[in-house]
Amino acid sequence: MTFLFDQWRSRSPHYDETHEAVCESVRAFVTREIMPYVDEWEAAGELPRDLHRKAAEAGLLGLGYPEHLGGSGITNQGAFDTFHGLVQSEEMCRPGAGGIPASLLIHGIGLPPVIAMGSEELQQRIAPQVLAGEKIICLGITEPGGGSDVAQIKTRAERKGASYIVNGVKTLITSGMRGDYISLAVRTGDAGMGGISLLLVDLNISGVSRTPITKMGWHASDTATIHFDDVEVPAENLIGPENAGFGGIMRNFNGERLGMAHQAAAYSRVCYEDALDWARERETFGRPLVTRQSIRHKLARILQMINANQAM
Ligand SMILES: Cc1cc2nc3c(=O)[nH]c(=O)nc-3n(C[C@H](O)[C@H](O)[C@H](O)COP(=O)(O)OP(=O)(O)OC[C@H]3O[C@@H](n4cnc5c(N)ncnc54)[C@H](O)[C@@H]3O)c2cc1C
Repeated sequence: MTFLFDQWRSRSPHYDETHEAVCESVRAFVTREIMPYVDEWEAAGELPRDLHRKAAEAGLLGLGYPEHLGGSGITNQGAFDTFHGLVQSEEMCRPGAGGIPASLLIHGIGLPPVIAMGSEELQQRIAPQVLAGEKIICLGITEPGGGSDVAQIKTRAERKGASYIVNGVKTLITSGMRGDYISLAVRTGDAGMGGISLLLVDLNISGVSRTPITKMGWHASDTATIHFDDVEVPAENLIGPENAGFGGIMRNFNGERLGMAHQAAAYSRVCYEDALDWARERETFGRPLVTRQSIRHKLARILQMINANQAM
């Protein structure tokens, strides 16, 4: 059923017919290409590569990215705004399997630093392949020593001639097992936030090794610990100026936090719809659960919280 997903949007001033169009096209893709395979991919622990290409063809990967880099835009009528991205994100939540959007749309956190700060050459080299679904780019910030305190990262990149030599470990990297590229936070300078740079690293080169991580959820999303042992990276793969990476990481986090919060709100609606369906279907003591006053109170209270959250 589409009780909550579709009712609230029509009451919001932020949405018009272009957002409805995004909703319809993403929903059609999810229904056709994702829903039938959720259990299979959750069991496999990863998504098929082909899904990225299909998502690109359907315009999902390129939504909101510049056309000259292979982005699709949305319509001819208006510009892309944040709400188009949010509509896409919440529609991807409908199957109730968080690992699928996390992994399929991993370029949403891996690619923005390249586009915002990378050289024109780097953008042209990387973005079109990613937006075509041919290559997967992930983001490498977190280390075994910690994730919240980004300014303390230890993975080091030493400049040697025309290259950087990278040594260190990243962990909990979404799409890290299948990823082709990683936007990697490395220490190029002194301690603290002022000594961090971002480097685009090819994950299929000598010195890179990966091990999968078993998680309690997000099963369809391959997640890795990635080791970098004397990995030689061309200096032209530096994303933005040296030692200016911290700002780029923080800018990335803004979009990521908004997306994660919106996904949490969308999942609450998925769960509510499931609970309501079950309360209508399940009979105890001769009547459906939904006819019981205590159950109706619970459902009303949850809906109140969801609507209040959504209104924010
Ligand atoms: C499924 C999954 C996918 C992920 N994907 C990626 C990815 O693609 N790329 C990537 O780089 N990282 C990724 N991460 C890592 C994620 O960003 C980190 O888990 C997160 O930043 C927290 O870091 P941590 O786990 O090291 O916790 P810690 O930093 O060790 O924190 C431990 C706990 O203490 C709390 N805490 C920390 N500091 C304070 C404080 N000052 N006051 C009060 N509480 C505090 C934290 O909120 C947390 O609950 C992923 C994590 C998960 C679980």
